Amino acid sequence: MTGRLVVVGLGPGDSRYLTPEAQSMLAAAEVVFGYGPYLDRLPSQPNQQRFSSDNREERARAAAALGWAAAGANVALVSGGDPGVFAMAAVVCQEIESGPAAWRDLDVVFVPGVTAMLAVAARIGAPLGQDFCAISLSDNLKPWDLIERRLDAAASAGLVIALYNPISRARPWQLGAALERLRIHLPATTPVVLGRAVGRSDERIAATTLDTVDPAAADMATLIIVGSAQTRMIDRPGRPPLIYTPRSATGAPT
Ligand code: SAH
Repeated sequence: MTGRLVVVGLGPGDSRYLTPEAQSMLAAAEVVFGYGPYLDRLPSQPNQQRFSSDNREERARAAAALGWAAAGANVALVSGGDPGVFAMAAVVCQEIESGPAAWRDLDVVFVPGVTAMLAVAARIGAPLGQDFCAISLSDNLKPWDLIERRLDAAASAGLVIALYNPISRARPWQLGAALERLRIHLPATTPVVLGRAVGRSDERIAATTLDTVDPAAADMATLIIVGSAQTRMIDRPGRPPLIYTPRSATGAPT
């Protein structure tokens, strides 16, 4: 019998965001690989082996999961959010491309999950209501000047921008530099949303503007949405504001 590798997205937080497909794939798995805190979120299951690993050991984790599947096991590899968004699905593909030829023969399935930008957007209205993009601010895997060029291009094209991996202890200045860069292109009043740990008990959502947003208000668990010049904020008495980007655009670039 040949094994199988299922790359599963857990969504942003608690089990409400776990799709029925992800749930049944996880229940069927004999072996589960993942970053420790993600494994902790899963209901315990008898006779299921679990291997937690450090977040930085992505390639080794993908290779180990493929190795178990090649040996005949039904293996799940979990990612927060969606596995295809700045996460393990691409690492698995890379390992298959560069690994033993037998791995190309494996049954590999990718199960989507709710990615952080969609969960944050849903908390505040419809900031992604029109054209948008997602940029990771991590310069571990790409040079900072490429990130700056992408920020310039996205903002000047009028795209709403979702910023993943905004800040960490090892990358303390990048978010401030990115916001400075965006201020060159966008009005000071451009709405900005900070969504922290969405879907978890310590969730926090804040709406602010590009001129006042404080990089220190973000951490590794924060997803930031920077609007375009067309993004609007509706104040509401006694309720949080709604932020949305109208579905129609004028011909002007921003
Ligand atoms: N695959 C994940 C993203 C991994 S990159 C997904 O699809 O969501 C890690 C980054 O995702 C974090 O630095 C943060 O920017 C964002 N993120 C992940 N979970 C989040 C959550 N629950 N709330 C807010 N942002 C989150």
